[in-house]
Amino acid sequence: MRRLLIAGNWKMHKGAAETAEFIEAVLATRPSTAVDVIVSPPFTSLPAAAMLLTASNIGLAAQNVHWEGSGAFTGEVSAPMLVDLGVRWVIVGHSERRTLFAETDDTAFERARAAQGAGLEVIFCVGETLEQRDAGDTFAVLERQVGGLGALDAAHLVVAYEPVWAIGTGRTATPQQAQEAHAFLRLRMSELCGAEAAGRLRILYGGSLKPANAAELLALADVDGGLIGGASLDVSSFSAIIHAAADCAAGDTP
Ligand code: PEP
Repeated sequence: MRRLLIAGNWKMHKGAAETAEFIEAVLATRPSTAVDVIVSPPFTSLPAAAMLLTASNIGLAAQNVHWEGSGAFTGEVSAPMLVDLGVRWVIVGHSERRTLFAETDDTAFERARAAQGAGLEVIFCVGETLEQRDAGDTFAVLERQVGGLGALDAAHLVVAYEPVWAIGTGRTATPQQAQEAHAFLRLRMSELCGAEAAGRLRILYGGSLKPANAAELLALADVDGGLIGGASLDVSSFSAIIHAAADCAAGDTP
């Protein structure tokens, strides 16, 4: 019922030439059309990516967006500007934005609202730190982080569960930890936006997802794809994850 979505988050990697080279190589693998695929290059590489992705089945995302359309906001990029470039998706509230750049639940929500207002699809990231998990606060943190999402259009929203302790650390949530958090998020989203919308909502897992663990994680009942950092930077590992998702969509699970 929910199509799997494999989204690569390149963070601050790959200039325009490297972006073009990567996209040409991924397109040459003829990525499966049974799953949705997205790449998220840095802002300056978006035009190069947009040119190559037009008429392909790979979507293009930005990694952040400002909540105003224009104005005196040095260093920021607005949603209409992204739309102008051919971008269709945006990642909002990534934990690196939260911990390194003072992003809050409120500013993440404002960015998401502005993005949807301009016609962009939003990938809204949530996830607890190790201290919060160890203190038994995981569900309270997730509940707070998604608290405003009922005011967004659930049809143009994807939630990404990314436990902070699993991002870039090589440490992955166990299938049980991931399923438990995803089921909780879906339940909470059904209270915020209705059972039907929550049933259609895609919830991605992010945190050291790689070819070796993709099949197991993507097969979980409430995991509808992955937001992938490190493993999305390499053509063969990104393609292997797309393959694992396609197998999963075909019902060929481990
Ligand atoms: C991310 O940055 O969203 C992420 C999940 O990174 P990694 O896959 O490298 O853990």
